[in-house]
Amino acid sequence: MHVLLFYNTMNFNFFGDIFFPPSCVGCGGSIDRGVLCAACRQGIDGFDTLFCGTCAARLPEQKKVCHKDTPYLLGAAGRYDDDALRALIHALKFQGIADAAEPLAEILVAYVARLGLDLRNFAVTPLPLSEKRARARGFNQSALIARPFARELGLPFAEQLLARVTHRKPQSDTETIFERQENIKGCFALARGAVVQDKKIILVDDVTTSGTTFAEAARVLKSGGAKKILALAVAKA
Ligand SMILES: [Zn+2]
Ligand SMILES: [Zn+2]
Repeated sequence: MHVLLFYNTMNFNFFGDIFFPPSCVGCGGSIDRGVLCAACRQGIDGFDTLFCGTCAARLPEQKKVCHKDTPYLLGAAGRYDDDALRALIHALKFQGIADAAEPLAEILVAYVARLGLDLRNFAVTPLPLSEKRARARGFNQSALIARPFARELGLPFAEQLLARVTHRKPQSDTETIFERQENIKGCFALARGAVVQDKKIILVDDVTTSGTTFAEAARVLKSGGAKKILALAVAKA
């Protein structure tokens, strides 16, 4: 059964206690538990490299080969045009099915395992939503993915290192990379009391398009003294 995280009509949110019959969000087939059937899960084809945070080139051996002053490394576990993966993200984000967070976190865990990344001494933090969007949605899907991801890897989870300072239009409503960069500029600040000096930080988001949101968040963390930033999205559009 799926526990619904929120239901947002008539500006009205309520939690829990709404159940759906168990069916796979990918193919609609019946399942005993969870939200995605084994066939859909196995059909998700993952990446096995990191990417340049500036030009999105694949980075063999997880090393920067181009744009060496990009303030972070970009990772994406899979493709947004992968039907099952997108269905899982939509289930969490737009249908509020909380149980979709765990398999999304597992997909991210499997990705970093494939890459063999050394994640010792990293802390995990989600990209924050704007206050307005967080209120409208009732939850931050990135935090819901980041928390079990951190737990699985035994890494500390810091829910609020970054804060959104202004409400812009969603990055998905922008059309050019230039417009995306302009739209996101200045939208993050270090959260009150957050200390990132010399820290290694993994930023988590559900979807990345051009990496501009991650780049802006990484820039803010770096300006606060963070040592290393790895930005991980479950899916890359
Ligand atoms: Zn399925
Ligand atoms: Zn590059």
